[in-house]
Amino acid sequence: MVKKSRRRIVAILASTALVSAGMTGAAAANERDQLAPPNSAAGPYVDPEAQLAEVRAAQLHADGRWAGSADPGKKALHPESREDLYPKFTDVQLAARVAEDQKRRAKAPAPDPDAGEVVATELVAEGLRVDIYTPPPGMSPEYLADILRKQGKKGIEVVKYGKATAMAPGDCAYGSARSFTCPVAFWTNNGFEDPLVRFNDHTPAQWPVTNAVYKWNQTPNIDSAYRFNSCPFQAGARCVDVVNANYGAVWTGRWSGFFPTATQSGPYRENGQVIQLNDYYTPAGWTRNNTITHEMGHALGLGHNVYSNDVMYYQANMREDIGGENPVLLASIYSIYR
Ligand SMILES: [Zn+2]
Repeated sequence: MVKKSRRRIVAILASTALVSAGMTGAAAANERDQLAPPNSAAGPYVDPEAQLAEVRAAQLHADGRWAGSADPGKKALHPESREDLYPKFTDVQLAARVAEDQKRRAKAPAPDPDAGEVVATELVAEGLRVDIYTPPPGMSPEYLADILRKQGKKGIEVVKYGKATAMAPGDCAYGSARSFTCPVAFWTNNGFEDPLVRFNDHTPAQWPVTNAVYKWNQTPNIDSAYRFNSCPFQAGARCVDVVNANYGAVWTGRWSGFFPTATQSGPYRENGQVIQLNDYYTPAGWTRNNTITHEMGHALGLGHNVYSNDVMYYQANMREDIGGENPVLLASIYSIYR
């Protein structure tokens, strides 16, 4: 090693069966829809598991193309990075951003003790599969967990604020930022000075993946690169696919990936990480930019920030920038060459 929401109302439970049908129409009108309105342009329902399997199979192709990709439009023209506009943070800039985080946090509402996300872990042939589900604003993690269990997901667990606060400081925490797991999860250098994570975007313009990649690439010691529907083999680099569809009234975003062993920490498995972004909801009190930035934070090694206005806070919110403590914690995780 070299140093370098509110709770859901019970009546909603009755509508669970509509979830897998990609529900629309009068029968679907309920409180949840008022809290997080459906998107009239969401397109037909897509089974997230079937799509995931398809994307993972496409990852095995050398060029990273996936037949389900959106029309690239202007996205195809975006470069891998914009270090002219989003240069790596310097130590001085990071210190200023951390001070700003601390000032904001002092004035922010206390984290909601009922807020949380849902994590699924399952030992499969590829290793330990881990999924993290972000509930839309207004949906409790317990309610989301019930939906997922009814859909047949295994190893479902609700992860709340209390668990994150119990994490030890050091490698796993900085201020209110938390690592994905403790001991930390990380990408290996694979011969690069800094690990290189290429986000292979397959989504239309409404999902601002480009912007989120450029922001995260400001983090020292780990590099994020943008690609549209193309991720050709590059020794030591890896591809994390980003896809979208209408997955129904469930979560806003899902990160899914593997650890090579039964342990949920240590190096991520090189292949199989996919971010899925749900077209079902119309943003209200949250933004799509926040959702993609949040899921990408998981892909890089971050867990949930316990500051209620942070992009890595459990429930989607209005914050879209990566803050100061998140990049400091990541920079610390990747300060070791391994
Ligand atoms: Zn999350």
